[in-house]
Amino acid sequence: MLIDGHGRRVSYLRVSVTERCNFRCQYCMPEKPFSWVPKENLLSFEDLFLFIKVGIDEGIDKIRITGGEPLLRADLDKFIKMINDYKSDIDLALTTNGFLLKETAKSLKDAGLKRINISLDSLKAGVAMKIAQRDVLVKVLEGIDKALHVGLGVKINTVPLKGINDDEVLDLLEFAKSKSMTIRYIEYMENRFAKDKLQGLSSQEIKDIISKKYSFKEVGRIASSPAHLYELEDGYRFGIIDPHNHDFCEDCNRIRLTAEGMLIPCLYFDEAMSIKDAVQSGDVQGAANVLKEVLANKPEKNKWTSQSDNETSQRAFYETGG
Ligand code: SAM
Ligand code: SF4
Repeated sequence: MLIDGHGRRVSYLRVSVTERCNFRCQYCMPEKPFSWVPKENLLSFEDLFLFIKVGIDEGIDKIRITGGEPLLRADLDKFIKMINDYKSDIDLALTTNGFLLKETAKSLKDAGLKRINISLDSLKAGVAMKIAQRDVLVKVLEGIDKALHVGLGVKINTVPLKGINDDEVLDLLEFAKSKSMTIRYIEYMENRFAKDKLQGLSSQEIKDIISKKYSFKEVGRIASSPAHLYELEDGYRFGIIDPHNHDFCEDCNRIRLTAEGMLIPCLYFDEAMSIKDAVQSGDVQGAANVLKEVLANKPEKNKWTSQSDNETSQRAFYETGG
């Protein structure tokens, strides 16, 4: 069992397989990204898998593949199959912008993927284009339908932004509900790669909008999930992730691995250690040692305090996978 320096059990590994992306979401990535990590610096799936096996053997029971856009990486289905073949009862999930999902959903499901979170910030083509800075909506909607069709469990992630998509909070909820998908609104998290002057809706502002049309009650957080869940009178549940309130840090169970092999204990902070040398030399004990050292130094909580404090993180979401 993996226990961090604050006594929390860590059982959830998020693995970013690339920092590259076919979108340029205003809240995540600058329009002209600088220099990508050269492809030769990325860990191979075999190297990532060596570390994943170490994690699973030590007690990791949930893995989420993310990015950048994970579907840009070739042979992702083979990577998923490697993990699933090693431990088929692992909770194996993916977070994607959905753009390439129509073409890939079936092979991902066949490889052993169980659940998928798809980012959808607008149902209006122009607004989706404004946020992603690409013309994306039609392909994303097709991807959602395909994922549902092949039998993947689908959740929708939405980042509501003031003056951009804040008038779609209810439409997006009703869209998700009509397809029996949970929607989770994520408070915009300030970071230095986001476009200047973006302002997210707070959890309270999101709830205020929904309460104009629906009555709902809070049903709390499922252990270690960052989302607070709410239930409409007909039983439909939606979630809100509000990192500006630190309560989910108390039982945070996650660590993150980047495509270059940096093991990151907290999304907010710069601290990280590399597993690259260990996995590339097949040093299983060395990889386990890095894992334990990172856990020993996992911070107690993030520093997204309140939006008015203008806190920013130096970490890029497209690098850590959110
Ligand atoms: N490209 C995939 C996608 O968009 O779903 C996976 C990577 S993305 C970094 C993972 C999640 O992080 C997405 O749901 C995205 O909306 C969220 N995200 C990115 N930047 C964010 C920010 N500044 N604040 C809140 N959520 C953010
Ligand atoms: Fe790409 Fe996802 Fe970041 Fe949007 S949120 S730019 S889709 S990595």
